[in-house]
Amino acid sequence: MHHQVKPVLSGLPFEALAEILKPLPHFRAEQVFRWIARGVSSFQGMTNLAIPLREDLEGRFSLYSSVIAGRAADPDGTVKLYIRLYDGERIEAVLLTDGAGRKTACLSTQAGCPLACVFCKTGTRGLTRNLDSGEILEQFLHLRSIEPEIANIVFMGMGEPLLNLPELYKTLAVLTDSRGFGLSKRRITLSTSGIIAGIRHLAATGPAVGLALSLTTADTKLRSRLMPITLSNPLPLLKDVLYDYQQQQGRRITLEAVLLGGINTRQEDSDALAAFAAGLDVVVNLIPWNPVEGMVFEGQALQEPSRREIAGYIQRLEGRGLKVTRRLHKGRGIAGACGQLGALPEISEQVSSPASRVGTWLFHVKSHVKI
Ligand code: SF4
Repeated sequence: MHHQVKPVLSGLPFEALAEILKPLPHFRAEQVFRWIARGVSSFQGMTNLAIPLREDLEGRFSLYSSVIAGRAADPDGTVKLYIRLYDGERIEAVLLTDGAGRKTACLSTQAGCPLACVFCKTGTRGLTRNLDSGEILEQFLHLRSIEPEIANIVFMGMGEPLLNLPELYKTLAVLTDSRGFGLSKRRITLSTSGIIAGIRHLAATGPAVGLALSLTTADTKLRSRLMPITLSNPLPLLKDVLYDYQQQQGRRITLEAVLLGGINTRQEDSDALAAFAAGLDVVVNLIPWNPVEGMVFEGQALQEPSRREIAGYIQRLEGRGLKVTRRLHKGRGIAGACGQLGALPEISEQVSSPASRVGTWLFHVKSHVKI
């Protein structure tokens, strides 16, 4: 296990960076901030700083705290990165490509997740710890080192973003700061399992980023069995806070439903979802469940929904006037699709390589994972 010995600069919002770099003047902090946003590989690469200053900074600080530990690519264009954190924990970040060729970075906010949704591989791992803002931001930098043009960011990887709000806010502050990354809030979406207190907080004080609710079903009894978080975050109250969020931020909300064969594709489920959506400005995103070995629900192995189940579900929702999109099976071959993160392959061999900023580990993918 490795321990961080020097403060890490990557995830610090500008004010915190300026503070830690004092007595260096403000404009120096701006230069460092901009270099981080450009993904410079070391202090030595900050060519507008005098060499003694670069050496001084290198002696006192680390730029990054994580490394790419492995990489898997699916023929459909999806790339998954395995990232090793300073304490040996491993997380995943995924690059998705849509039909128009636009790239989206899917980032993790926790190592593992405490919420145990039955259809999610990450949930079976439990929570190890929250990620800090540097560890979240560096996922984006790592993905950008392999794909410079990333249009959107979704916080939909491992973990529940709204259970790690302070670090999430710092990351968002860095990403949207025009002195560095300068990303538009419109290009950023958080996906939540429905943490009422978190959505309230976001509505009151957070940046106006997009919000997606992983609803799955709006049948309370079934949802409580599939997503135990429902018990402490009841659906009627959740709808109220979503309504408030929408009033506050003025953005359309995405309702996501992972469709599980024979479980939540019934007429009752589509009816309940349509009733939940009434009065909100939403788009419904259906995600046919991606098979992950060994996932069970109350003793039954989970199954993909049939084409017929999916088509019927879409038809009923559209019949109620809802806008429905269906996510393709992106990244299936590498377990990079929704609900599959956390099925980590083993890393077998270490090599040094100039390709990544700190080092790259070649890995050998076992079992059914393809590269
Ligand atoms: S679906 Fe999301 S909230 Fe649920 S266990 Fe998985 S990572 Fe956690």
